[in-house]
Amino acid sequence: MKKQWYDYLWIWSIIYFALGFFNILFAWLGMIDFFLPLIFAIFGGNKFFCNNMCGRGQLLNKLGTDLKCSSNHKTPKWMVSKWFRYGFLIFFLTMFSNIIYQTYLVFSGANSLREVVKLFWTFKVPWGWAYTQGTTLDWIAQFSFGFYSLMLTSTLIGIIVMVLFKPRSWCTFCPMGTMTQGICKLKNH
Ligand code: SF4
Repeated sequence: MKKQWYDYLWIWSIIYFALGFFNILFAWLGMIDFFLPLIFAIFGGNKFFCNNMCGRGQLLNKLGTDLKCSSNHKTPKWMVSKWFRYGFLIFFLTMFSNIIYQTYLVFSGANSLREVVKLFWTFKVPWGWAYTQGTTLDWIAQFSFGFYSLMLTSTLIGIIVMVLFKPRSWCTFCPMGTMTQGICKLKNH
């Protein structure tokens, strides 16, 4: 089948993380990946984004299948179970809410800007080189650091489960996938 432009979005995934090393404000671009799947699901009632346009899914396929980085072991049953998928979704949304809250604290002046990227919601990595204080409002930069942390952490989890199990194992519990699937079910009921 003839390749479409969106078959190359895995390149975008790599560029996105690379840009975050130069200027953290590019992290805002990740909001496209946040809203686009929801827009397709809400208005189209379909998973067109997951099936065709997700750079992360494509990247996991490239690494796991084309570059043979995946062990190809069966994805564990608990990982595809409802309780885990919805549990992870709740956890993910809680962490996203926390990013909004931290952004608000900086916006209100209660906290000052923290130039760190938090990996796996635990390890703080100094990331000051990717932002010059005063370039923009502090809360805009704070959201960038938080959102980039979330995007990087979820991609790293995706890569770990890609190596350990099937290439697209992440997709079985990806919060965006769970949300869009839920919306599509409701729409097509
Ligand atoms: S489930 Fe998540 S990672 Fe997988 S294709 Fe959909 S949005 Fe992308």
